[in-house]
Formats: sequence, C-alpha cells, structure tokens
Amino acid sequence: MKKNTCHQSALDVALLQYDSVAEKLDIEPGIRETLRHPQFAVEVAFPVKMDDGTVKVFKGYRVIHNNARGPGKGGVRYHPDVTFDEVKALSMWMTWKCAVVGLPFGGAKGGVTCNPLEMSKGEIERLTRRFTSEISNVIGPTTDIPGPDVFTNPQVMAWMMDTYSTQKGELTPGVVTGKPIPLGGSLGRNSATAKGVVICIREAVKELGLSLNNLKIAVQGYGNVGLNAVSMLHDYGCKIVGVTDIMGGVYCENGLDPKALTNQLEKTGSIEGTPGTDDLSNEDLFGLDCDVLIPAAIGNQITQDNAETIKAKIIAEGANGPTTPEADKILCDKGVMIIPDVLANAGGVTVSYFEWVQNLMRYYWSEEEVHERLERIMTESFTAVLGAAKEKGTSLRAAAYNLAILRVSEAMKLRGISS
Ligand code: NAD
Repeated sequence: MKKNTCHQSALDVALLQYDSVAEKLDIEPGIRETLRHPQFAVEVAFPVKMDDGTVKVFKGYRVIHNNARGPGKGGVRYHPDVTFDEVKALSMWMTWKCAVVGLPFGGAKGGVTCNPLEMSKGEIERLTRRFTSEISNVIGPTTDIPGPDVFTNPQVMAWMMDTYSTQKGELTPGVVTGKPIPLGGSLGRNSATAKGVVICIREAVKELGLSLNNLKIAVQGYGNVGLNAVSMLHDYGCKIVGVTDIMGGVYCENGLDPKALTNQLEKTGSIEGTPGTDDLSNEDLFGLDCDVLIPAAIGNQITQDNAETIKAKIIAEGANGPTTPEADKILCDKGVMIIPDVLANAGGVTVSYFEWVQNLMRYYWSEEEVHERLERIMTESFTAVLGAAKEKGTSLRAAAYNLAILRVSEAMKLRGISS
C-alpha cells in the first residue's frame, strides 16, 4: 500500500528525496550509503530550574549530518514537536543547502523539545545555557556552528555564545551566528532569507518571460521571511493579493499594502482583519489566482490534497520542507516551476556564513557589501541549478540535489576514509 505522505516523518521525506537522486548518480556505493546517515548525533537530557522552584528535565539534540566540506552549520529549534528524527532530517537538508550555494560548511541542526511560548525569559535563558553546556564539546567555530531557527532568536544566540565563551575562557563570537549586531552579528542578516527568495523569484520570472510589474503574489506566513519578501516584492511593483499567518489571512484583488499589514500585526499580533481587506483562510490561499506562491511558514503545507488547486506558475519555498513528495510530483506534472527550499531560502545561511567570516577576521562589512555578495551567490546558484535542470531535463529540486550530492561526495572521495 502506498504510504500517505502526511504521515511520513521529515526523516522519511529527506531520505526519499536523497535516494531518488543519489541512486541515479555515479558515486561510490559506500559514499552513497554514508550520506544516508548522520555522521554524529547526540541526545542529551538535562535539568532546568523553573520559576516555581521545581526542576524540569528537557531533551535536546545536536546532529552533524556531514562535515566533508567544512564545519557543521545549522540552527537550533525550540518547539514542543521537536524529535531526534526531525533534527536528523533538518541536518541533512542543511548539508545540501550549504553545498548548493557553495558554502564551505557541512550540515547540522539542533533542537530542544520544549514550548518556549509557555516559558518565562529566565526559564528560556537557563534552558539555553544548560543545553549549550551539554553540547559544548560538539559545537565550536571550527567544528559545528549553531544559529537561530524556529522559536530561537538573536538573544538566545547571545546566551549560547556567552555560555560557550565563558567555558572556554575566551570570547568566541564565531561559535554561533544570528547574534545581535553589538555582539558580532552581521548587517543584512535579518532580511537575508527573504532577499534570497526574492532574487530567485526575479530570476525565475526572467526565465519564464514574465514581468515583475503587477505579478500576482500569494504568501503563507508573515514572519521574518514572509514580511520581508512581501515588502521587497511590493517595491518591485508586484501585486500582493493574499497573505496568511497562523491566525488567518487577508485578500485584496487590487493588491495589499504591506505597511497596513505590518501595522495590523504590530497592533494585534496577526495580519487578520487588516482594514480594507477581505478574509482569507490558509486553505483558500493555495488556490488563489496568482503567479507566484511563497510558502513561508512551516513544513508539509502543500500536499496531495491541495496541489491540484494551485494556480501559481512559480512556487518559491521560503519555508523548509513545505511541499510533500506527492504534491511535488503533481505540481511538476502540471508544469509549475518549484524553486526548492535548499536553494530558495539559502540566503539566510549565506549571510550566516558572512557573519562567521567577519567574526573570524574581526573585520566587519557594510550592509552594502553583504547585499552585493549575497546577490552574487544567489544569482550564480540559481543559474547553476537552472542550467543543470535544463541539461538533464529534471525539476529544479532534482537538479539542486544532484549538484549538492555530487559536491559533497566529491569532497568525501578526495578526503578518503580514515582508519
Ligand atoms: P517566523 O516565526 O518569523 O514566522 C512564521 C510565520 O508563519 C508567522 O507569520 C506565523 O504566524 C506563520 N505560521 C506559523 N504556523 C502557521 C500555520 N500553521 N499556518 C499558517 N501560518 C503559520 O519564522 P520565519 O523565520 O519567517 O521562518 C519561516 C519559515 O522559513 C520556516 O519554515 C523556517 O524554517 C524557514 N526559514 C527561515 C529562515 C530565516 O532566516 N528566518 C531561513 C531558512 C528557512
């Protein structure tokens, strides 16, 4: 019986995506098998003193999928649904993402199973410091460099950096990225992921012979990625017809005003009910009459249940893993151009790389320099993936995986097997 993707774990999906490309590549079987597994994975259980005086035990994970091309790189997620397997899948995706855009990093990821929305700032700080201590022999500026992910932010990165630096007896800003600017964060990091998404859309639009002017855009998620992408695309002359967040959404045939959306978000915590707009549900967003759809919220949103209804010509995956493999096939058969997550949202890790480089050099760049370098890397990466897809007659996702797996396996082959 065919497995329902909705019940597939992130790790099932990551392995399926990898196997479907790797089995067609001429790489040594031993290397191919090695890449199916994380190279290093640690699970820790640690106590945290809560505000009411009780002690609660939390589980945390850090996984390095592969470090053939450089130290592990990947965020730390705080979420009640975090599992060891999910972290393994996310670490594997990081390996491909870093390789697709040519960064000298391997893939890694971390997480703690917790609900930070129900914890005080003090509790989150104590959890962060203890988790950092538990994994301090794994992470390091030349071994494995965490960054922010779902429900972690620059403040959490500052606590991680401080805990690690205190233990090592020296200030080590390069141990994490996504730090606040006064602690060695990079200018341009906040909008980097959205900027990468927008660069990919701009190049895709060129390829399809469309124009950005009046291009109709629908976006799921109005957080770091969604909000910044909406604002940049609006400035390019695109018409933002629909946006949703976890509470609901808004629609306007003539185009939404990003300033009004952000005002509403700041006032109420959601864009829902922005004056002058009609209500829009997350289900209806996917079927909207639009040219570009940007999933920028969470994983598993585009499934076999809604893929047929999608009218967009381009899907730019701002989120990680928003499209299930079944939906991917339906959309490819319909001729939709899907810009895969490992390419579309790689602007974030690219500027994290810049932050790390600046930390190691102790020399900081202007925002303009950051943007110029990001622009070059994203444009070149998009062109390389598109070229490979055309040459081999595959989807952009298969082409991106193809490039990434070949780059990683070449590095592994050159390094050989140590004994
Ligand atoms: P965020 O927390 O700032 O915003 C998330 C947005 O998604 C919010 O508007 C939230 O309301 C909405 N959302 C959450 N659950 C939803 C649901 N069930 N239905 C509809 N909307 C929902 O997060 P972000 O940093 O913007 O990240 C968004 C996605 O992009 C995530 O998948 C993340 O892994 C991915 N990503 C982010 C970065 C980055 O640099 N921020 C980099 C690469 C990938």
